[in-house]
Amino acid sequence: MRYSALQILRQGLTGNRGWKPVWREPEPKPHYDIVIVGGGGHGLATAYYLAARHGLTNVAVLEKGWLGSGNVGRNTTIVRSNYLLPGNEPFYELSMKLWEGLEQDLNYNAMVSQRGIINLYHSDGQRDAAARRGNAMILAGADAVLLDREAVRKKCPFLDFDNERFPIMGGLWQPRGGTVRHDAVAWGYARGADRQGVDLIQNCEVTGFDIRSGVCRGVETARGTIGADRVAVCVAGSSGRVMGYAGLRLPIESHVLQAFVSEGLKPAIPGVLTFGAGHFYISQSDKGGLVFGGDIDGYNSYAQRGNLPALEHVCEGGMALMPMIGRARVLRIWGGLVDMSMDGSPFIDRTPIDGLFFNGGWNYGGFKATPASGYCYAHLIATGAPHPVAAEMRLDRFERGAPIDERGAGAQPNLH
Ligand SMILES: Cc1cc2nc3c(=O)[nH]c(=O)nc-3n(C[C@H](O)[C@H](O)[C@H](O)COP(=O)(O)OP(=O)(O)OC[C@H]3O[C@@H](n4cnc5c(N)ncnc54)[C@H](O)[C@@H]3O)c2cc1C
Repeated sequence: MRYSALQILRQGLTGNRGWKPVWREPEPKPHYDIVIVGGGGHGLATAYYLAARHGLTNVAVLEKGWLGSGNVGRNTTIVRSNYLLPGNEPFYELSMKLWEGLEQDLNYNAMVSQRGIINLYHSDGQRDAAARRGNAMILAGADAVLLDREAVRKKCPFLDFDNERFPIMGGLWQPRGGTVRHDAVAWGYARGADRQGVDLIQNCEVTGFDIRSGVCRGVETARGTIGADRVAVCVAGSSGRVMGYAGLRLPIESHVLQAFVSEGLKPAIPGVLTFGAGHFYISQSDKGGLVFGGDIDGYNSYAQRGNLPALEHVCEGGMALMPMIGRARVLRIWGGLVDMSMDGSPFIDRTPIDGLFFNGGWNYGGFKATPASGYCYAHLIATGAPHPVAAEMRLDRFERGAPIDERGAGAQPNLH
């Protein structure tokens, strides 16, 4: 069923009884050409692009819970392509371009809202770094505008410009950045993949791999063994645990990241804002809630819930940036699991085990990467060669001394 204004009218006039389920609930087959482990944004996007771009439809996505139960439905919905390094920027700009055509591609309203993102700077050194980043973005075909203090004040008069410790001097603005409704992305890709014949299998946890003579031939699951010519893991925060079943250790730590939503307020925040001196970022949803977050919780964990010190720390960041936030009441808080890599950049690669592929290490920022991640992972699985914009996202880059260390923070996941 295609969605359109006419369809809404037709269904509205006939009591909304004709809507079809958005995807099927198939039983797993004994064997597939490709099995994708993890039904988050990246797994579903990979399945969609395998079918849509490479004509590969004998594919299953195995999800241990329900589709979208992971981080794709828990993030703060920010999309942007304001990266510096050549190993990252072209990839995230491809993602931005895919976001821009996504709703037409999927025939699904994902509420792509390009309201802009401003990264604030608070010192001369930060201004120079912002100018450099903006130039790198423009060279890679992205958009960037360096705003001075007055230009930021015009857009966001409510900020504390004269904060004693971190006065606001300006910001790097990416007008095409913004937000996208997170779970609509999962549902849209799921529907797109299902329509092309991909089996989406929920409540099907992968508990092991069938590896014989160094070749991966399938997966063990809560619903029995499923054979596959190629297995593509895509489990974000559970990467370490799942790849451990194959005997592989990753340069990744899992941490909890919390998100916060206030009661609904009248429109106040024009786009996305990030504090350049503390770790705090904020936007406002279409329903009016202030959506904000900050640092990861300070210990490794696979729990999807956070603790109070991180909450206090994030709220302190908010108060330093925009004291008016102290008047808003927080409505909801939740935690998700982020797969923090040692240089803050992701992996889309083969593994040393034939037929087993890995996608992970998305840190705080894998939501914005969803379209390009699926696109490039599908390219690698289908053709055997990395997509040019993801060519540096390799698992062996630390051994080769070629990390993609965007922030220059080294192997400190808490700083990325
Ligand atoms: C609070 C928070 C805020 C964030 N904000 C942003 C943001 O504003 N912008 C941004 O770009 N990024 C953001 N992120 C990061 C982003 O959400 C993630 O990087 C991204 O969603 C990860 O990819 P995914 O969608 O495929 O992950 P998930 O949705 O987590 O998908 C992985 C799936 O694998 C499944 N799985 C795990 N183990 C198994 C198994 N053994 N068998 C089968 N299935 C399994 C899980 O159930 C899950 O559904 C945020 C993350 C959090 C937690």
